[in-house]
Amino acid sequence: MRHDVIVVGAGLAGLTTATALADAGLDVRVLEARDRVGGRTFTKVIDGAPIDLGGQWLGPTQRRMRALCARLGIATFATHCEGAKALDDGARVRTYTGKIPRVSALHLAEVGVAMARLERMAATLPRDLTDPAARAYDDSTLDHWRGRMLFTEGSRRLFDVAVRTVFGAEPAELSTLWFLYYLQTGGGFAAHIDTPGGAQQDRIVGGAQPISDALAQRLGDRVRLSMPVRAITDEGSVVRVHTDGEVLTASRVVLCVPPATLLRIRIEPGLPGGRDLALQRMPMGATVKLFARYETAFWRARGMSGEYVSTHGPASMAIDNCGPHGEAPALLAFIVGRDAYGWSQRDETARRAAVLAQLAKAFGDEALRPTAVIEQDWAEEPWTRGCPVGNALPNARAAWTSSCVTPVGRLHFAGTETATEWTGYMEGAVQSGERAAAEVRAALR
Ligand SMILES: Cc1cc2nc3c(=O)[nH]c(=O)nc-3n(C[C@H](O)[C@H](O)[C@H](O)COP(=O)(O)OP(=O)(O)OC[C@H]3O[C@@H](n4cnc5c(N)ncnc54)[C@H](O)[C@@H]3O)c2cc1C
Repeated sequence: MRHDVIVVGAGLAGLTTATALADAGLDVRVLEARDRVGGRTFTKVIDGAPIDLGGQWLGPTQRRMRALCARLGIATFATHCEGAKALDDGARVRTYTGKIPRVSALHLAEVGVAMARLERMAATLPRDLTDPAARAYDDSTLDHWRGRMLFTEGSRRLFDVAVRTVFGAEPAELSTLWFLYYLQTGGGFAAHIDTPGGAQQDRIVGGAQPISDALAQRLGDRVRLSMPVRAITDEGSVVRVHTDGEVLTASRVVLCVPPATLLRIRIEPGLPGGRDLALQRMPMGATVKLFARYETAFWRARGMSGEYVSTHGPASMAIDNCGPHGEAPALLAFIVGRDAYGWSQRDETARRAAVLAQLAKAFGDEALRPTAVIEQDWAEEPWTRGCPVGNALPNARAAWTSSCVTPVGRLHFAGTETATEWTGYMEGAVQSGERAAAEVRAALR
């Protein structure tokens, strides 16, 4: 039996693509490697309360995700941020209210000037990344610019922590072009790092994965779980998709998987060489999420918001993660970038103790007595291989956008890394799925 379209991957990109194609009357199948849908969104219910082990926040300008939630009857709620915040510089923890942390004026000024300059560079970046003005940024890492703009150890550490928490990677691991492009697709640096008004503004009642569950439910038996795609053969007039036990046939295939897992699928004839090289230059970031559940939200009672930033790790940041009405009290800590490389290989007990000690330093000794600790290390997920996103190394991004989104024969490509709005986020996944579905419909017309 020949299907019109096979979609590989049932994350938000794959499910958006499949929904649009099914709504257009096409015969579509979705093949998902895991035994669940949602990909990088992963909600577990523990002691009756949901926690998001993957993507969880929505920003005010992420209009597709907001519309999708509204359509599915899924509500959002404001991330808790009332109270003082804490900044840990390794030696001591300082608390502050508002947006400006209590650090040396020199460090603040340096970081402020650097961020303003990067915002300007991102805002004026040509949309066409093959434009020479854009390409000029692609042969350096962000570390190069950091070295030209930040001169003190303190300002560099503050800057690094912001970069690390957004990308799961260090400035030396990011093409400057990728960094600027990422900023641009989300509307600037502040839009990425802010809570109110930024990407962390709201959470989803019941968690993020139920959005994918609802989309999959609508698609019914078109979605097939535990079906890893191992190989794809484009025979010119038809495409064959090889799973462990079956070969399926379709007129078109849409690959909605991260770059690191796309590279593990044997594609014949092979992808154009330049494209393969660009994919190899998009390694996944590194993030470990650690939730500590408590009897009470003791930090709130002390006038603290739960927001904590550390320039020394192992957790780079923490935030209040209670339910919408303050129930299921929890703090969520992120171990990211180089700290994740090291600490994810360490003994679980030592890692947890180190993070809880950080929380105790900021919020009090109650932090040492959680009722439960739940961890998710995305490097251990073979169908994702790191997170939150595949980050471009120098000289990959221009090649990526100019060629990697373009169909190859009967193969089409989606996934948040291919998005032009909020790339790296759930919003980007949905946007890429809409684009891929339109592309396939035009091709089949
Ligand atoms: C810890 C973490 C925190 C995040 N925080 C946020 C946040 O707060 N807000 C936000 O908007 N975004 C956040 N993100 C990013 C967001 O979750 C992703 O951008 C988005 O979910 C990606 O969707 P996708 O469909 O492009 O890819 P994925 O969700 O990765 O979907 C790809 C799917 O393909 C499947 N697959 C892979 N290989 C194969 C194969 N060979 N055969 C069959 N199936 C395959 C995978 O199992 C997966 O289901 C976060 C991500 C993580 C992990």
